Amino acid sequence: MGTIFDKILSGDIPSHRVYEDDLVYSFLDINPISRGHTLVIPREAKARVHELSDESCAAIGRALPRICRAVLKATGAVDYNILQNNGAPAHQAVFHVHFHIIPKFADQGLGIGWKAGSLETEDAQTLLAAMHEDLASGG
Ligand code: AMP
Repeated sequence: MGTIFDKILSGDIPSHRVYEDDLVYSFLDINPISRGHTLVIPREAKARVHELSDESCAAIGRALPRICRAVLKATGAVDYNILQNNGAPAHQAVFHVHFHIIPKFADQGLGIGWKAGSLETEDAQTLLAAMHEDLASGG
């Protein structure tokens, strides 16, 4: 089933376009948490980042810094967060991959609850063994 971002991509519903190319589309968030809050999406309809093609990811990687520069220039912001949610428990509401560019001002922007733990050596080794195995098989 399609998402609202498919309708934006097809032009069935309007958006405030910031940037587009063959693989990427960017537009202003309709409910900004700070002035200039911008979304960057692949045209490819995948819900989560790890499902995307290398081609889409590369295109987003190429466009993202450029769009960040435009957001900073337009808003005068110096600081910003890039947020990318995957899955409803991780605060994803629209199930089409999107990157938020959120300017950070003194009184506006992303607030993060960050409960830092500490990395245990044994668990680090376990994690690395599993990750390296997956990456060695081509990811
Ligand atoms: P997330 O919680 O990461 O899935 O964020 C989804 C984002 O999409 C929210 O910040 C919404 O404000 C934004 N959004 C939803 N519908 C639209 C729309 N029609 N135009 C622009 N932004 C939208």
